Amino acid sequence: MRAVLMGPPGAGKGTQAQVLAQGAQVPQVATGDILRRAREEGTPLGRTAQSYMDKGELVPDEVMIGIIEERLRQEDAKAGFLLDGFPRTVPQAEALDRLLQQLGMPLEAVLLLEVPEDAIVRRLSGRRTCPSCGRSYHIENDPPPVDGHCGTCGAELVTRTDDRPETVLSRLEVYRRSTEPLKTYYQAKGVLRAVDGVGKVEEVTARLRAALHD
Ligand code: AMP
Repeated sequence: MRAVLMGPPGAGKGTQAQVLAQGAQVPQVATGDILRRAREEGTPLGRTAQSYMDKGELVPDEVMIGIIEERLRQEDAKAGFLLDGFPRTVPQAEALDRLLQQLGMPLEAVLLLEVPEDAIVRRLSGRRTCPSCGRSYHIENDPPPVDGHCGTCGAELVTRTDDRPETVLSRLEVYRRSTEPLKTYYQAKGVLRAVDGVGKVEEVTARLRAALHD
């Protein structure tokens, strides 16, 4: 599988990407997770990224393109990959195309998870995230263990700082302005497959798998 999973913040990309990547035995490359790890480790990249992330803004294209280039040149990506959260702008998509052409491994599919905005705001405000393994819960739909620790790895769950209501609105605005144009970009290339992201996690996974095999 060589695919991109795109969609607005809170569409369920992280949850779905984890399941799909595991099933296909390819790495899930989640740029948000890479940045959060760098931020926790206090690296120069983490410090650069922090101010953008806290405001719900995009980290500059050249930084993100460098990260993805380094990651996709690693050995495990030769078997395929599932990108989650990249590309988010047309220049990022163009750089990705150039890189994959150089590496001789073009994209097979771009899956677009569609979820209406009112549902997104509800999802993000109830989200609890594991800072260690990246697993997400939702206080109503997928409640975390009562002790507030991750059921997978045991770390203490947190509310992401960028899941605060005011930041969610600016992330949605950024999505509309910078990321939505990618729909037209990938449609023109004939690789875009839109999937309804509303419903139970397993139902959405089944739709995504069907779209991948179309
Ligand atoms: P995510 O976990 O995918 O929602 O990403 C969290 C935050 O990381 C975003 O709101 C951006 O600030 C930053 N980020 C992640 N991926 C990208 C990207 N491809 N381009 C720019 N910023 C990104």
